[in-house]
Amino acid sequence: MRSLLKAKSISAPRVVISRRAYANMCAFRQRANESEAGGILIGAFFPTKNEYHVCVATRPSRFDRRGRYFFHRDAKNATRIARRFWSLSDGQLHYLGEWHSHPEPVPRPSITDKITMGRLRKDSTTVAGCLMLVIIGQETDWIGFWSESGYSHICFEIADE
Ligand SMILES: [Zn+2]
Repeated sequence: MRSLLKAKSISAPRVVISRRAYANMCAFRQRANESEAGGILIGAFFPTKNEYHVCVATRPSRFDRRGRYFFHRDAKNATRIARRFWSLSDGQLHYLGEWHSHPEPVPRPSITDKITMGRLRKDSTTVAGCLMLVIIGQETDWIGFWSESGYSHICFEIADE
């Protein structure tokens, strides 16, 4: 019984990212000497299908601090943006998580990423208590999903919306 419950709690959701949101992130691949970039993911959650649709990936703002190997997004500005989408969409679009770039061909979450995401998940108001992280590497991408039982690497699909 216990293993059944556990298996259910970590069942991977289906994640669909709009082509426009994905292009917004890919524009910041660190192929040369660019600084890390990042932003927040906004979209809808469909609980009956356990499905997330990422509609918006915000671009770095002038309030964020960026370097070749770090990206600190400004919390106040991100909260303001997330609230605006939420109210303009009548509560349909939520803050779903974070994205940032890494200067490595095949990206993996760093220790800092894991600590930050764990803390953000606890401290943020999120749908279903889960948070996703997209990392845009120099050649490939990585997407993970943080829930109360930890995090797992998942797959995503790109869709025209
Ligand atoms: Zn990172």
